[in-house]
This record gives sequence, structure tokens and C-alpha cells, in this order.
Amino acid sequence: MTDNNCIFCKIAAGEIPSATLFEDEKFRVILDVGPAAKGHMLILPKDHYADICEMPEDLVGEAFKLAKKMAEKQQRVLGCDGINVLQNNHEAAGQTVFHFHIHLIPRFKKDKINIGWKPGELSEADRDELLTSFQES
Ligand code: 5GP
Ligand code: ZN
Repeated sequence: MTDNNCIFCKIAAGEIPSATLFEDEKFRVILDVGPAAKGHMLILPKDHYADICEMPEDLVGEAFKLAKKMAEKQQRVLGCDGINVLQNNHEAAGQTVFHFHIHLIPRFKKDKINIGWKPGELSEADRDELLTSFQES
């Protein structure tokens, strides 16, 4: 279940070398080549799924379990003050490599990393519409 045109398939399979921090039958954890911070890592499943919606539920669960394990290790090894666990799906959400992956970005107080948005306001109309449409679907 790999895609010949996918760079993360090749990295996960070990066909392209990577700085690997962890590997088992199903996953490879690598250092990001364009890190937001020192220790920025990516969790890659070895099978190809473009995004979270395509991936089997159990494997998504296992990926996030591994994210917790690696986040704890980041805290121990790097002594970071926080960690962003980030997972982008589709171009509109900032995904650039279309093979599911989880980012783990170590954070330090007063670092200059910007992962944010300007908070809007939840209107009563939006709230009611969303409560209805999500309950109905
Ligand atoms: P996305 O924007 O899809 O959520 O994240 C893709 C990430 O993959 C980026 O942070 C980018 O730096 C990283 N990346 C892209 N190509 C490679 C590569 O060949 N090797 C590694 N280690 N990271 C890569
Ligand atoms: Zn792939």
C-alpha cells in the first residue's frame, strides 16, 4: 500500500535515507528537513494514506499513541516547555506532502514560532446551525 510517486512512502520504507528517531513495522519517525524548531519531528505511517480521512481509524489511533510517546521523549531529551502536535489535511490546511503525517514541534517560552490564528466570535446563528447540522449528519 505505497505510492511510487510519494516521497514519504520512499522515506518511510527506507528507500530514501532520513534522520530516523524511531521505527517499527508500521511507522517511521524522522526529523523534519525544514524544522520550525530544533527537534521538529514527523510521524509517518509506512503505508500510504493521503490524509486522516483516508486512513483506517485504528492506524490513526496508533499514530497518535506514538505521538504521545515521542512527545514525552521530546520533553525528556530537549527539556522543551511545550509541544505543538499538528496534522494538516489538504492544501487549504497547509498540507504540502500528501502522505499522512503528524508534526511534533518542541516549543520554548518566548520562542518566535507562529502557529496561530486571530480568534473570531462564535455567533448564536453559527452555533445553532452547527449544532443542528452535526447532530443530523
Ligand atoms: P505539511 O506541510 O505537509 O504538513 O508538512 C510537510 C513537512 O515535511 C514540512 O515541514 C517539510 O519541511 C517536511 N519535508 C518535506 N520534504 C521532506 C523530506 O524529504 N524529508 C524530511 N525529513 N522532511 C520533509
Ligand atoms: Zn506515501
